[in-house]
Amino acid sequence: MSLVVQKYGGTSVGDADRIRAVADHVARTRRSGRDVVVVVSAMGKTTDDLIRLANEVSEVQPPREYDMLVSAGERMSTALLCMALAELGVAASSFTGSQAGIVTDTDHTKAKILEIRATRLTEALQEGRVPVVAGFQGVSTDRDVTTLGRGASDLTAVALAAVLGAEACEIYTDVTGVFSADPRVVPDAHRLARVSFEEMLEISAAGGRVLQLRSAEFARNHRVPLQVRSSFTWEPGTWIVEEDATMEQAVVTAVIHTTSQAKVTVSGVKDRPGIAARLFRALADRSVNVDDVVQNTSIHGTTDISFTVPRTDLQTAVDVAEALSGELGANGVQSDREVAKVSVIGAGMRSHPGVTATMFETLAAEGINIDMISTSTIRISCVVRAEEVERAARALHAAFELA
Ligand code: ADP
Ligand code: ASP
Ligand code: MG
Repeated sequence: MSLVVQKYGGTSVGDADRIRAVADHVARTRRSGRDVVVVVSAMGKTTDDLIRLANEVSEVQPPREYDMLVSAGERMSTALLCMALAELGVAASSFTGSQAGIVTDTDHTKAKILEIRATRLTEALQEGRVPVVAGFQGVSTDRDVTTLGRGASDLTAVALAAVLGAEACEIYTDVTGVFSADPRVVPDAHRLARVSFEEMLEISAAGGRVLQLRSAEFARNHRVPLQVRSSFTWEPGTWIVEEDATMEQAVVTAVIHTTSQAKVTVSGVKDRPGIAARLFRALADRSVNVDDVVQNTSIHGTTDISFTVPRTDLQTAVDVAEALSGELGANGVQSDREVAKVSVIGAGMRSHPGVTATMFETLAAEGINIDMISTSTIRISCVVRAEEVERAARALHAAFELA
């Protein structure tokens, strides 16, 4: 029998009615003659609530305990969905990440999957049961509960689809697919019928949270056919596919913005070989993902290095930079939480000059100052003030005629 992995995000299982609606869809999929493995997120804002609670209880949050806490939300969803399925006469069994055989490294809060021993899931399928797996979590090689990073239920789903040889992985969410911009901020954004893996990776890397970055990478590397669709309307949605000759290569496909970044500036560092290497190695050793980097022109043998990191890593990044400041010869470390990034993405921009110019002109016409710039072959990103980023996204979406 063909197998499909279906992942339901937080809003999709946000309350009892939603859980029953999801159960109904799973039951219909089963009746259509396909096997289903379900992956669920925590209900609604449960994960945020758990993190808030932890912050209220203590400033000291050992990563092992943090993971034990925040993984609990997904576990609730699995049991509730299995109950709703039972009422519909569909046999189902809940599994934590550990029970599903998702083995990770010991890097708590953003662990990497090392291996999936899916025997319990395949046994359940053979018995005609629907496995319902808690997303976003695994068990470390030290046998502790780990989590895989925010939004990582997508990764759980894609990884299971790959290892189980599913014909497709369906990511059900609260929008009808991947859009030319965040439809909540750019009202005239349109749904994309198909997106290449290459563009999807850039959309996710630029902060378009509709699909978590590591899940997009995993899907591309393991060629998992992926679909993003709505659990409210159940309409077809967006396919993420290998690029092929029949795909129209729009110059700009999407305008993506994110406010989940922060900027760190290390000022007055010595301008000589090895200084940046020392700083960024230390950041990497603490698992801080550095995004954009800018080094100013040196004056009298010293310079400033600025870089952006996820806001959740800001304190670690500042701690690392401060601990090294003596060695780097730095005279200060500043942080700025009020930055945001807006990016334009499109596979066609490789062969069309002028996209950068249009982007800068559009931001200039809006009176929006650009703080940092970074590019890939199919993406241009600008760091701007956080309060201006939504206006920037709307202006760019209009300028590139994406409406
Ligand atoms: P889930 O809980 O289902 O994983 P997320 O909140 O992680 O859902 O992702 C869905 C949200 O992503 C949408 O509600 C939408 O606001 C946002 N989003 C940002 N950029 C895009 C985009 N380009 N296309 C679609 N949705 C986007
Ligand atoms: N519940 C987790 C989060 O909010 C994982 C997910 O939803 O994908 O980050
Ligand atoms: Mg998500």
